Amino acid sequence: MEVTKCLIIGSGPAGYTAAIYAARANLSPVVIEGIQPGGQLTQTTVIENFPGFPQGITGPELMDNMRQQALNVGADIRSGVVTAVDFETSPYTVTIDDGTEIYAETVVVATGAAAKYLGIADETKYAGMGVSACATCDGFFYRKKVVAVVGGGDTACEEANYLASLASKVYLIVRKPFLRASQAMQERTMNNPKIEVLFEHNTEGLFGENGVEGVRLVKRKGEPDETHYSLPIDGFFLAIGHTPNSEVFRKYLATDETGYFVPSDASGVRTVVPGVFVAGDVADPHYRQAITAAASGCKAALEAERYLAAKG
Ligand code: NDP
Repeated sequence: MEVTKCLIIGSGPAGYTAAIYAARANLSPVVIEGIQPGGQLTQTTVIENFPGFPQGITGPELMDNMRQQALNVGADIRSGVVTAVDFETSPYTVTIDDGTEIYAETVVVATGAAAKYLGIADETKYAGMGVSACATCDGFFYRKKVVAVVGGGDTACEEANYLASLASKVYLIVRKPFLRASQAMQERTMNNPKIEVLFEHNTEGLFGENGVEGVRLVKRKGEPDETHYSLPIDGFFLAIGHTPNSEVFRKYLATDETGYFVPSDASGVRTVVPGVFVAGDVADPHYRQAITAAASGCKAALEAERYLAAKG
C-alpha cells in the first residue's frame, strides 16, 4: 500500500507550485497530471503578466519550466486522471483511471477549470471540424478565413482580437446588447476593423458538408422583431466561460452553485476535510490568473506542511 504525505491533483500553475513547495519541505509529493498536463496555459500564446519574464513567455514554455522545476526539487509527476476519492478516513484514498489507488495524508486539489459549450448538438457534430474552444490553439487553421466567436466577456474579446490577427473577418456573437469585458478590452474589440460585433444574437445551429460552413443565428430572440438568418463562416469558437473540474470531489468538499470550491476559512485553501486543500481556478471564480493560481498552490502546500507537522 502506497501512502504519500502529499498528493497533488492537477498540473497547472497551482499544482506545480504546490509540488515545488511540498518537495522542498520534504513531503515527497506525488502529482497526478490530469486530462490536460500543464493545464489551460498550454493553450495560450504569449503571457505578458507573469512576473519575471520581461519579454513575456509562451504558455507551454512557462508550464514546461514549472514542471521541470518541480522535477528538479524531487516531485514525482505521474500521468493519470482521478476518477474517485474517499475523504472519509485518513489516509485518504484517491483512485486513478488505471485503477491504481493512492493513499495520502494530505491532498491538494488543483484540478482547474474547463471551457463551457453552448450545449447544441452541432457543437459535437462538428467537433474538430470547425468548432473549437481555444482560439490560440486552433486559430492558425483559419488564416484568411471567416470565423465567429461566441461570448461577450474578456475571454471572447481576447480571442476575437487574436483571431482577427489571422482571419479575414471575425464575428463576435453576443447575447446581450452590451459586452461584459473590461473597458480596455471592449474598446480594443469595437475598434478592430476586422471584428463585427453582433449584439443580441444567439446561435441556433451550424451547417456544412465536410465541416462548418455557416452558422444559423437568431437576432433579438423572443422580441416582436425576432429575426432568423445564416452567415457563412469557416470556424466557430466558444468563449462563454468555464466550468470548474470539481465533480469527483463534491461529495466531500463544499462548492458554490457553479461548482467552484468554497474554502472553509480565510486561508482560501483549507476545506472542511482536515488535510485536504484546494488551489487554483477550481476554487477561484474571480481572478483565474496564473499568478493567483500559483500563489494559492503555494499556500496549500504550506498548509499541508503545517498540518502534518501539527499531527506529528
Ligand atoms: P465571463 O463569465 O466573464 O463571460 C462569459 C461571456 O459568455 C458573457 O458575455 C456571457 O454572456 C456569455 N455567455 C455565457 N453563456 C452563454 C451562452 N449559453 N450563450 C451565449 N453567451 C453566453 O467569462 P470569461 O471567460 O470571459 O472571463 C472569466 C473571468 O476571467 C472574468 O473575470 C474575466 O475578466 C477574466 N479574464 C481576464 C482576462 C484578462 O484580464 N486578460 C482574459 C480572460 C478572462 P452574459 O454577459 O449575457 O452573461
